[in-house]
Amino acid sequence: MPIKPFPDLNEAQKLDLIERLQQWSLSNGLVMYPPNFKSYSAAVAPITLFPTPFPKKSFHNALEVQKTFNELYINLVTKEKSWLLEILDFLAPFDKTFTGKLYEIYQESQKLGVKQPLSLGVFRSDYMVNDIDNVDQPEIKQIEFNTVSVSFGGLSSKVGKLHNYLNRSGCYDNEYSYQYYEDGEIPVSNSINELAQGLANADSTYSSTATSILFVVQPGERNCFDQRHIEYSLLENHNIKSFRVTLEDVQDYLTVNGDKLYVKSSMDEISVVYYRSGYAPSDYEISPEKTWGARLFLEDTTAIKCPSLLTQLSGSKKVQQLLTNEEIIKKLLPAIESKELAQVLSTFVSIYPLDSSEQGKIAKKLAFEKPELFVLKPQREGGGNNIYKENIPDFLKSIDEEEWGAYILMELINPSNFKNKIIRNDETFNEEIISELGVFGTILFNEVSGEILENENAGWLLRSKFSSSNEGGVAAGFGCVDNIYLY
Ligand code: ADP
Ligand code: MG
Repeated sequence: MPIKPFPDLNEAQKLDLIERLQQWSLSNGLVMYPPNFKSYSAAVAPITLFPTPFPKKSFHNALEVQKTFNELYINLVTKEKSWLLEILDFLAPFDKTFTGKLYEIYQESQKLGVKQPLSLGVFRSDYMVNDIDNVDQPEIKQIEFNTVSVSFGGLSSKVGKLHNYLNRSGCYDNEYSYQYYEDGEIPVSNSINELAQGLANADSTYSSTATSILFVVQPGERNCFDQRHIEYSLLENHNIKSFRVTLEDVQDYLTVNGDKLYVKSSMDEISVVYYRSGYAPSDYEISPEKTWGARLFLEDTTAIKCPSLLTQLSGSKKVQQLLTNEEIIKKLLPAIESKELAQVLSTFVSIYPLDSSEQGKIAKKLAFEKPELFVLKPQREGGGNNIYKENIPDFLKSIDEEEWGAYILMELINPSNFKNKIIRNDETFNEEIISELGVFGTILFNEVSGEILENENAGWLLRSKFSSSNEGGVAAGFGCVDNIYLY
């Protein structure tokens, strides 16, 4: 199908459209707190006015490979655990204060003995469509696989509904009479309910009695509404209560009895510890002893961790690089069919190690001779850590060559630009944007035996950013929440 252009509206219609967008968003919780917020006052989240075109085939490919990716990472954690531990032994010394510390706590928890073999993964695999050089055959290319605290599943459902509302009410049409997009062209991600379903399945597997879910959150979280939508779905659809606590307050707020985890004040038993914090060094800076202590405290209970320390660590960039190898994938997924394998392999761009291997030697040359084609990534999450293009050589020169091995060198993906409109507070930006599709998945598994109890897709997310910016963090102010117009 040819791509429809964005709707062409006059000034008065645009103003009306923006007012409707803002009021729908405030009515339905498509919101975030602004910086320095007061608890009673939220703002419309940064969003696009129109859905952004995305090729149908690429969209379906991304949904189709999700369960395979879920299983790939889980099998690494369970069936090839000793190899994962070797990788972590290698990485830990390069990043003592974060990756190393998480690993150290994992080792301490192992000494205390496994209290809960069941483990929950709530993952998101992020892609861009590489179609600049390949217009007729757009392919999704994986940016990264996230294994901890994946966000925007809440707001994604909302922005899909918003764009459908604007479309069905006729506002995208310059005569206010027609739907501009046809039914089915703007799909809505059901991620709120599907993420809640994943948590609820873990809860009911934990025990048949009434138990609750613990959201471990950042202090002063501006994106709390994204999380609240999942909490409300848990209560409404599954009759499961949730509690929220910061890492710092964990040990004051909770207590352990016979290895089970309870809320101290009410003695509500916790079935699942759902981390929406703890993925970046800044989460442990406030009071390191308490916050790191909280990780060990929670790990050493019968509550199902989402994710466990080892599952979180499996999402490191170095692992992602190693998992692009066909032989390794076959080893981790012995039953994989050739079509499925080809599909997974087609999502990779080249990712190189920067070590003394043959691949590493090639990469070291490329990093200096063609830096404009690459992004250099350290073992960090949460945005703002990568080194792009021309900055790579100077950065590498500024650190010891010994340390290069902890970085990966990744080929840059080049998606098409679209001139959508981004609405941020009272400003409308009409700039070229590029989009990144995130596909959610949930997987409940036994970390000791490797048995997989549930493996599901859980909706998606489209984020867009100015094509002029390297990174796309919505909360960090680089990007916005968008939705798909399938063509
Ligand atoms: P983080 O763990 O900080 O989220 P990512 O690997 O997701 O790190 O990179 C952050 C952002 O940088 C991505 O959301 C994307 O916008 C951009 N980016 C990362 N890798 C690539 C790539 N290979 N090609 C193009 N853009 C990339
Ligand atoms: Mg990312």
